Amino acid sequence: MSNKKMDRREFMQTIARFGAISALGAVGWLAVKKPTKAGIALEGGSLWQIDPNKCTHCGKCATLCVLKESAVKCLHKSDICGYCDLCTGYYYPEPSNLDTAAENQVCPTGALIRKFVEEPYFQYEIDEKLCIGCGRCVKGCTAFGNGALYLQIMHDRCLNCNICAIAVECPDHAIIRVPAQTPYFQKTI
Ligand code: SF4
Ligand code: SF4
Ligand code: SF4
Repeated sequence: MSNKKMDRREFMQTIARFGAISALGAVGWLAVKKPTKAGIALEGGSLWQIDPNKCTHCGKCATLCVLKESAVKCLHKSDICGYCDLCTGYYYPEPSNLDTAAENQVCPTGALIRKFVEEPYFQYEIDEKLCIGCGRCVKGCTAFGNGALYLQIMHDRCLNCNICAIAVECPDHAIIRVPAQTPYFQKTI
């Protein structure tokens, strides 16, 4: 599969969009109110969420959720991404080629999409439908990159169980209660 190229004008528009997102996230929490499965009539209530500063990407989020397809997905914070050619969230160490061949990719489901921007920059996006929340890409990005990839519980999927089955087993106690009105972490630089 070849990399889809983006022309310079599209690249500049993309960067401008990332700037706007960055400004939104300056307080450390993403002020986006996505609808919640449990109902956003949770005024004053709280939801389960992963604290990315505590999570060590053990892989349990992919399998312990009570839902058949985990409510946990990977997010990509584009405005702190280095647009790296050798992305350590995308590639295994020492890949045979820096291309989109499946054997070089960390993601087991092909959910992390790599697109050429302009030399030497590449853009990365998550295909949420394919992501199983395994955290492998997060581990790679956090170890060698700047942590632009991170796991979150998606509240258009999560049932907001009284006791989150993942929280019970999480080795890092990384799943905490957050205010329902600010349900997603957004990393600040
Ligand atoms: S179980 Fe805890 S440490 Fe493991 S991936 Fe989930 S939040 Fe992170
Ligand atoms: S490596 Fe795992 S967490 Fe990352 S995008 Fe792929 S399925 Fe999602
Ligand atoms: S609260 Fe329930 S549905 Fe939500 S992530 Fe935890 S186990 Fe899954």
